[in-house]
Amino acid sequence: MNQLDYLWDYQKLDLKMEDLKSKKKNSTARKNLYKAIKYLKNQQEDLIKINSIVDKKNHVYNRIYHEFQRINKDLANEKAKLYSEEVKSFKELDQIEKKILETQEKLDKSREELNALIKDMDNINNELKLVTNHLRKGKREYEKHKKDYDLVVEELDTEYSKIKSQRDSIKEKLDKSLLRKYNAVKGNHSMVMAEIQQNRCGGCNMFLASLVIQNVRDNVDAVECENCGRILYLGDNSSAD
Ligand SMILES: [Zn+2]
Repeated sequence: MNQLDYLWDYQKLDLKMEDLKSKKKNSTARKNLYKAIKYLKNQQEDLIKINSIVDKKNHVYNRIYHEFQRINKDLANEKAKLYSEEVKSFKELDQIEKKILETQEKLDKSREELNALIKDMDNINNELKLVTNHLRKGKREYEKHKKDYDLVVEELDTEYSKIKSQRDSIKEKLDKSLLRKYNAVKGNHSMVMAEIQQNRCGGCNMFLASLVIQNVRDNVDAVECENCGRILYLGDNSSAD
């Protein structure tokens, strides 16, 4: 085996490693996990929103409730006046009765507000229950998908390190300069080496001069395709005149 044969095998393993990386990235398990995380996050955000609404409503409720109690006390005071000896005239009595009516109206209004708020809070509580259920469901989904993903990762990582150690053992046999060249081309093409097929570069399909092919055959140095820069290779599957 010459240097280019080693490099060809090196490339095969290199590509397999990339494939495993992209398999991990594009795995259904990863996508499912991502979806589960997003769902969970949305529910958590909803929960925070609802909790803040609950806080605000509680605050308003307390304010109106205190107001209600105050009006109620006023009403009781006015009513008590009716039966006290303080009332000295019909005019005064009229005034007290008028005040009682006004206070009663205020009290009714306040009670209505409280009832509306209670209804509101019931609805919010139902929403809260719903979101809490979603959150619980989301957590279960997340745990399930996390487990699945961990399994996939473990499997792919084991395979990856196996391939990597195979690749690295070939790396030791490769000339440093050839490896440098490989890595330089790698920046432009995922397939660094191109097999010659019917006198054409297997990477870009450009027709190759017979001298170029001869140079590859002579294996003097790594020959790059003039057009795409890939390292040309004559392998078992190649065909050249
Ligand atoms: Zn080419």
